[in-house]
Amino acid sequence: MSFTLCNLTVEKGQKVQGYLDLPFTQEDKLPCTLIYGDREGPTVLVDGGIHNAEYVGIECVTGLGRMLEPSDIKGILILIHLVNVNGFKARTVSVSAADGKNLNRVFPGDPNGTYTDKLAYFMEKELFSRIDYYIDVHNGDWFEDLSPFIYCVGNGDEETTRKAVLMAQAADVPYYVVSKSKQGGAYNYAGVLGIPSVLLERGCFGLWSPEEVMASQKDVRNILRAIGAFDSDRFLYDRQNRIPRHMTHAHYIDAAIGGCWFPQKRAGQVADAGELLGVMKDHFGNTILEIRAEEPCIILYQTISYSVPENTPLIAYGHYIDCVDDLEGQAHDHHHQAHEHDLEELYENQGSQSVLSVDNMLSHI
Ligand SMILES: [Zn+2]
Repeated sequence: MSFTLCNLTVEKGQKVQGYLDLPFTQEDKLPCTLIYGDREGPTVLVDGGIHNAEYVGIECVTGLGRMLEPSDIKGILILIHLVNVNGFKARTVSVSAADGKNLNRVFPGDPNGTYTDKLAYFMEKELFSRIDYYIDVHNGDWFEDLSPFIYCVGNGDEETTRKAVLMAQAADVPYYVVSKSKQGGAYNYAGVLGIPSVLLERGCFGLWSPEEVMASQKDVRNILRAIGAFDSDRFLYDRQNRIPRHMTHAHYIDAAIGGCWFPQKRAGQVADAGELLGVMKDHFGNTILEIRAEEPCIILYQTISYSVPENTPLIAYGHYIDCVDDLEGQAHDHHHQAHEHDLEELYENQGSQSVLSVDNMLSHI
């Protein structure tokens, strides 16, 4: 028995490494490992470098390609070590050098579009059509401060969401966020197609460390275990220290005005309702915008660059206090109605839409 993905073929019980050809360019090829396990199981895609400057994810998947063997795997494991090769070679900030687009905002892609649209379409056509599960490994870009967490899809049928939540709960991070977004992101679109999918976030400032890479590798192995794709006694040290809490909703705040940004907190820190999270100033040092927490929250990630362009993400924070109840299975619907827009709509347009109107923001000053 064999499995063929584009120009690469792997036989059952074997591992193959090589470059995947892209149909629309000769310039870029995707580093890939295919592992066909000894035992039966699902077909799973794990990738890094959808954002090419998020190095924890890239090194995580590259390392998994070296360390995992067919005897560890049940089913077929597709590892794409780096997706946005084009941006990586040009050392861009997570956009393709060819057209300046963010790959994680263009799904489902377009075979007649520009480079990044075609890359998204390639993933959908060649990869998403073959897989049962999807694990997308990211971290904070050079302008982002980030506390580890994991997204899972909640945008498709109930069964897909249920499996995606189980995947998220296998990661050793403090929080998981269920995303209702249906398009834009690779994992979001995979969810629409009925593929249980997660996006792991660990590391920030565009930096990476061996510790973060190893932690993300452990999370990927534990997620693979949870879906019956991995069974190995070579990794007995993969112990999950905590089950992530469900962050019932999150606020995604974009910069209504561009300027010089002074964040007041670090990712992972908590804030009280009304507490100042950051200040935007003009080039004379005048405050032109204040961002305050609407409710008690924890900061998931935030922009830390001094320069912040208008309509780009500033800060994402989530509600956490009542979320503890979710783990106990106690139903509650606090704020759910009021904040329904957060996950349903705002995240869907994350990066392209302001959460608060300018008037709203200025009223804080
Ligand atoms: Zn990313």
